[in-house]
Amino acid sequence: MAQEDVFKKVVSHCKEYGFVFPSSDIYDGLGAVYDYGQNGVELKNNIKQYWWQSMVLMHENIVGIDSCIFMHPTIWKASGHVDAFNDPLIDNRDSKKRYRADVLIEDQIAKYDEKIEKEVAKAKKRFGDSFNEEQYRSTSPRVLEETQKRDALHERYQKAMNENNLEALRQIILDEGVVCPISGTRNWTEVRQFNLMFKTEMGSTAEGASTIYLRPETAQGIFVNYLNVQKTGRMKIPFGIAQIGKAFRNEIVARQFIFRMREFEQMEMQFFIKPGTELDWFAQWKATRMAWHQNLGFGAENYRFHDHDKLAHYANAATDIEFRMPFGFKEVEGIHSRTNFDLSQHEKFSGKSIKYFDPDTNESYTPYVIETSIGVDRMFLSIMCHSYQEEQLENGETRVVLRLPAALAPVKLAVFPLTKKDGLPEKARSIINDLKFHFNCQYEEKDTIGKRYRRQDAIGTPYCVTVDHQTLEDNTVTLRFRDTMEQTRVKVEDLCPMIEKEVTITSLLKKLP
Ligand code: ATP
Repeated sequence: MAQEDVFKKVVSHCKEYGFVFPSSDIYDGLGAVYDYGQNGVELKNNIKQYWWQSMVLMHENIVGIDSCIFMHPTIWKASGHVDAFNDPLIDNRDSKKRYRADVLIEDQIAKYDEKIEKEVAKAKKRFGDSFNEEQYRSTSPRVLEETQKRDALHERYQKAMNENNLEALRQIILDEGVVCPISGTRNWTEVRQFNLMFKTEMGSTAEGASTIYLRPETAQGIFVNYLNVQKTGRMKIPFGIAQIGKAFRNEIVARQFIFRMREFEQMEMQFFIKPGTELDWFAQWKATRMAWHQNLGFGAENYRFHDHDKLAHYANAATDIEFRMPFGFKEVEGIHSRTNFDLSQHEKFSGKSIKYFDPDTNESYTPYVIETSIGVDRMFLSIMCHSYQEEQLENGETRVVLRLPAALAPVKLAVFPLTKKDGLPEKARSIINDLKFHFNCQYEEKDTIGKRYRRQDAIGTPYCVTVDHQTLEDNTVTLRFRDTMEQTRVKVEDLCPMIEKEVTITSLLKKLP
């Protein structure tokens, strides 16, 4: 299946099977805002648990908090978000469509890359086994010409971005002849900076109301609670504070489903360390986080690090963990070495000392920070895209199966009575009544067993059990496995130990290195 098709299918599957709905659906939706349905919320909660437990349960020196979405407005001044959390936007006067200037230019760079790759692929086909790719790339006049154009554009773009030069960004768009995909024209406005924070008013009287922001990241809630947690928890450096919560960004171009939303959820952990140790901790957290992702069993080849060459002025190392989505390798998580920038800024703006006194060395310092920041929704999307599969069966039928890691699946076990009579429904329900304390079970009696299997495959349920007349005699059931479709007869009392060890978050955590 073409990757583009996979993505379209995942989007419609998410809606059809109660994973993700457009928000305000009966009012035709709201741009880049989505709701999670009955199965989506279970999967999402499992992802959050896997993250939370791997951070807070597995590390003695990491604790969690839950800070508010509304915060003192000066926090966003201190963090730099009021002045610098901007994207450069440009409008096409004919279509009235708005774009991110940087994205238009990056797409243009990608077009050069595509041209180069097409040339190479053509030559590969022409020359067959004798093809020397390296030599071809360094000698083919066509490839060299395109590469030179691409590199020149990239350099110009980097310079304009680094200097925050909006006019230069616009000039690049004009010089490259970028056209609006809707109107097909080059009738572009000026480039303007657009702040991504949502604003609202707090207070009941017009005079007394003050402008506050919906937080664009959860991290600042951790920084401003650093002292509270360090003191009340008697935390010793190195230690971390973890948090899961909503964040809001007024994204200019919201596309690709739940990949870029205006209301989304983050799982962030700030690890406070002694200055000078940050690059070691950065390397350690890179490895820890990559292992967490790869532990899901999707294959190491589907992940990569993308180290940043352009660093924020306060950062001294940064990388993204990218996952192979159907639309290419994309950022799912960022890991940043942020020095003492945030705590120092809050010291300055709040006038409170945020120093750590190290009892071992008798020194005082403002801690450095390594941040790991992952989007729950992007993680959700990567899991759905990788798990969605269409399989050709021997009888010619196609089966849609969601090969979710069992520990993340919304439903762990579905129990079916073979028929709706002879006491079989009662027996099926009594099995569920015992097992529901251990994991999420679902009862289904409608349609043929085959159809019921298909519905459970489509939501990723790893185990199904059928209760038949023999069950009433010897207390055994047919257990069917989602991935292999194999069936086996097992005793009812063996179900819990067999299934539980495969479907809990603990089972996933135990596999972590
Ligand atoms: P991008 O470059 O894609 O806009 P970012 O670098 O701004 O992302 P961060 O500020 O580092 O992202 O946020 C950390 C994580 O939060 C990202 O890795 C991503 O998983 C998630 N995230 C950020 N913005 C969004 C969004 N608009 N919708 C969904 N998830 C998001």
